[in-house]
Amino acid sequence: MRPVMLITGGSRGIGAACAVHAASAGYDVCFSYLANSGAAALVRVACENRGAKAVAVQADVSSEDDVVRLFDTCEHELRVPHAFVNNAGVLGTQGELADFTAERIRWTVDVNVTGALLCMREASRRMSTERGGGGGSIINVSSRASTVGSPFEYVDYGATKGAVDAATIGLAKELGNAGVRVNAVRPGVIHTDIHASGGEPDRIARVAPNIPQKRGGQPEEVANLILWLASDEASYVNGALVDVGGGR
Ligand code: NAP
Repeated sequence: MRPVMLITGGSRGIGAACAVHAASAGYDVCFSYLANSGAAALVRVACENRGAKAVAVQADVSSEDDVVRLFDTCEHELRVPHAFVNNAGVLGTQGELADFTAERIRWTVDVNVTGALLCMREASRRMSTERGGGGGSIINVSSRASTVGSPFEYVDYGATKGAVDAATIGLAKELGNAGVRVNAVRPGVIHTDIHASGGEPDRIARVAPNIPQKRGGQPEEVANLILWLASDEASYVNGALVDVGGGR
């Protein structure tokens, strides 16, 4: 029976690349999206064309009810995930922290921290061998922003990714003897819509000269790392924060 990969934010960008790659690698796939049902349908069909069962679920990761419903749907329509990719994330318009509203900061923290933690909680409850689960792997999608801090762009976003790094280290220790490995990938600057969300669609062209490899990354280059971390080839990799940023 095919293992199941559950991915949050699978309708676009890194999550979509991960869903399609997982389908090609032999997983059945369940993924969430927030609002873009058209993009989600395209990813679902792309997965099915690769021989996978695929389920797309509208679910806001910052809502506890939605997160529980997402995991329930995955379990009922497919199975308990063997791999969970905690990918959904947001950032606000570029600027200085001094100018950010409380509402924007709370939204960033709600989605990127509270949402990520709720998802890690659900995955832990269902996957831990000490709670009746079958074990597996959790991969958190953090960011190089947790280290570089994103000054003059989105310091709030960088801070949320620092929280994801800390949760990765802590949860890896909690679940180390419960059959679940927990790691994080930390992408650099990747070609997705997220830069337009920050107000600068051409951001990659501006920052590329400062990246040692002189280019942004493709979502598939991040998905390759995520699929490897989920695989048995990474069987002794746990609590790792793995950069995928072209040397940035
Ligand atoms: P993206 O292209 O903007 O796609 C975001 C995805 O997340 C979409 O599927 C979106 O759904 C979903 N989403 C947004 N808010 C959500 C919410 N509240 N609940 C559930 N799903 C939600 O983003 P991306 O660049 O692929 O980023 C994916 C992850 O990689 C994020 O955690 C991001 O911080 C991280 N990352 C990205 C980069 C980069 O340069 N791209 C670098 C470092 C880290 P809809 O399609 O329905 O809107």
